[in-house]
Amino acid sequence: MKKKLAIIGAGIAGLTFGNLIKKHSKHDFTIYEKEENLSVEEGYGIQLSTNSIKILNQIGFDKVNYEKIFHPKGVDFYNIHNKKICDLDLTEFNTEKYKYTTLQRSVLIEFLKDDIYTQHLRFGKRIKEVSELKGKVLIKFDDNTNDLVDIVVGADGIFSNTRSFFENKKNKPKFQKAIAVRTILKSKSELNISEERISLMMGKNCHLVIYPINKNKDLNLVCIIRDKKYEPNNIKFIVDKVVKQNQNLKKIFDSELTSWPLYSTTNILPSSNNKVFYIGDAFNGFLPTLAQGAGQSIESAYELFSLLKEENLDVQNSYFQQRLKRAKIVRKRSNLNFFVFHFSSSIMQIIRNFFMKFLVKRKSFINSYLGTIYKN
Ligand SMILES: Cc1cc2nc3c(=O)[nH]c(=O)nc-3n(C[C@H](O)[C@H](O)[C@H](O)COP(=O)(O)OP(=O)(O)OC[C@H]3O[C@@H](n4cnc5c(N)ncnc54)[C@H](O)[C@@H]3O)c2cc1C
Repeated sequence: MKKKLAIIGAGIAGLTFGNLIKKHSKHDFTIYEKEENLSVEEGYGIQLSTNSIKILNQIGFDKVNYEKIFHPKGVDFYNIHNKKICDLDLTEFNTEKYKYTTLQRSVLIEFLKDDIYTQHLRFGKRIKEVSELKGKVLIKFDDNTNDLVDIVVGADGIFSNTRSFFENKKNKPKFQKAIAVRTILKSKSELNISEERISLMMGKNCHLVIYPINKNKDLNLVCIIRDKKYEPNNIKFIVDKVVKQNQNLKKIFDSELTSWPLYSTTNILPSSNNKVFYIGDAFNGFLPTLAQGAGQSIESAYELFSLLKEENLDVQNSYFQQRLKRAKIVRKRSNLNFFVFHFSSSIMQIIRNFFMKFLVKRKSFINSYLGTIYKN
């Protein structure tokens, strides 16, 4: 049966869901975004493993300009002094059609908006009030417009406002006492790294990830630093904690830096309303240490879309159980990486490096640690 859907939030999750509905179903939908436009300025890089590429290809991602994306062949792990510890081959998860991909978030958003921009996207929309009417949900927006829909999809990020209208139980994201700093590098400076691979450097209470995001080999740098407080005006001071560990890093932090505090959700709660679903970070926000946030946003959109398409009679429960199982695995791995990447004791670092060298070559370990995530 044809349904009417309201998607709240035009991030990766909401836009992917909209595209799937548009290309592969007869349902009617509108995406309501609180901002006045989509932020397509450069933005940070994202890594997409084959699980998400497989889904995105169903909506035409394979036609994206090849120059604007990159397929790194592996990850090189270094200590903070730029001494290589070991490397991981990413190509073993690739197929001819689906390859581990890095790109700028803006490139993905541009692609996702293309087909739905004029017809399905509404800007400057914030929910003011919701109520039930004749078995449907009536949403009133604060610009005095409204929509009567069969299904509401909350895709409004980790601080989901949609939840506050439909759920009594709060699920407040927790500050993880860590800060992300990012910039785009035009060259690798004095670092001894490959510009064609992902480089991950682990230091005391911090780690850096550098990877190419296009065929120009512009490099995305993200540095995660543990700190109890987030003070946006004090970023240089925080970054100094990293530079003190390796002066060669000074140059790469000389460019313009953007920073933000890292939050994640500790509980995964179901929707209490049969007509309301959450996807992406609104379902669960992960730490970025497995690079799966965008990937899981795409996967969650696909899972919900598939259940709606096959007219599953128990969509709410099926969706929640499926997503919960997946989110728990990803969350566990992201949290473990967050812990292991940041050891401050040199003895712990030596032990970690020893185990990493050993494990990274064990196919069975890599397949169960990453294969289960990448190949879903
Ligand atoms: C440092 C860092 C590095 C990362 N690296 C990676 C990576 O390499 N790979 C990866 O897969 N992921 C990565 N991620 C995570 C990833 O970017 C996010 O998980 C993903 O973008 C979440 O998408 P989303 O659509 O659920 O939410 P969002 O991107 O937050 O989008 C939510 C949208 O909803 C809108 N909105 C908010 N409130 C309302 C409202 N009340 N009404 C209407 N609209 C609203 C917002 O304006 C926004 O457009 C990283 C994250 C960080 C912090």
